[in-house]
Amino acid sequence: MNSTIVLHQVSKSFGNKNVLNDISISVGSGQIFGLIGPSGSGKTTLVKIIVGMDLPSSGQVHVLNTPVPNLNLLQKIGYMAQADALYNDLSGLENLTFFASLYKLNKDVQKKRIAYAANLVNLTPHLTKKVQNYSGGMKRRLSLAVALIHDPQILILDEPTVGIDPELRKSIWAEITRLKKEGKTILITTHVMDEAEKCDQLAMVREGEIISSGSPFELKDHYQIHSLEEVFLKAGGDKDENNRIS
Ligand code: ADP
Ligand code: MG
Repeated sequence: MNSTIVLHQVSKSFGNKNVLNDISISVGSGQIFGLIGPSGSGKTTLVKIIVGMDLPSSGQVHVLNTPVPNLNLLQKIGYMAQADALYNDLSGLENLTFFASLYKLNKDVQKKRIAYAANLVNLTPHLTKKVQNYSGGMKRRLSLAVALIHDPQILILDEPTVGIDPELRKSIWAEITRLKKEGKTILITTHVMDEAEKCDQLAMVREGEIISSGSPFELKDHYQIHSLEEVFLKAGGDKDENNRIS
């Protein structure tokens, strides 16, 4: 299987604070890859480095065999940041139109993509409202729509379902699974265990290190337990090399 995202010995420090330590991962194309770990473990920092918004202190990042950062890659990546990056003074529709205009889409395609993305996240009836009047969950949904607007080959979603009700969460996951079937590669961060269960591969991050990785089945098998919740607790207590199962 081809690797779409490859990190080789990536470390990152802010000042003298070491936030990521020697991270190597490889995300196969067409996979849903989950980064799971507690708050503050380094997931967002890692994701920003993959997108090219931040540079590693050492190590290499390649996306689609291209060294990051690279402007052309942005056309191929849909990124949903943990903090919503939206224009509050504009309506939902104006936000979607603005972001769509950043990509080389013709007007017809643009219209179709906006309708598709808004519908996917149940925002069609709210498109004319200003974003400043949206709830937190609506902003998350609009951010997801923005990430999908140019039909990217790779989706990078940083805690996409925070603040989203269970029903919509289900439909978002159905869509993520459908996108995977289309051959897209999806990297997602989460600390919701039932979401981790839906990933093909997982990497558990703790204090800036990958302490364990593998499929949900492999992780449970390795720790001889039944739920990922337990994996999380077990792995959390022990940070040695023996936890590396793949
Ligand atoms: P997570 O997404 O897993 O919650 P983050 O990547 O946001 O973790 O943060 C990891 C650590 O890096 C935290 O201790 C956070 O305070 C620190 N950190 C993140 N960004 C910066 C920054 N720009 N400057 C200094 N410290 C940072
Ligand atoms: Mg984060």
